[in-house]
Amino acid sequence: MTIIFTYTCPFCGQENHIPSPFSPGLLHCVSCMKAFPIIPVDERTIRYIHLMLDNGRAAADADFI
Ligand SMILES: [Zn+2]
Repeated sequence: MTIIFTYTCPFCGQENHIPSPFSPGLLHCVSCMKAFPIIPVDERTIRYIHLMLDNGRAAADADFI
């Protein structure tokens, strides 16, 4: 399971999708290529979601198991 976050480019409005960034930094927009700062995600929160969903297995639709 990978949790993807969306950051909207402040220059062109393009949505940029990246997997859980745990440290602050600059993200280069996939559309206009300009860089903008992003707020990182809390690693403990991401670990909790992985644990709560058994790394994604608990989210499976029971009709297909
Ligand atoms: Zn952009």
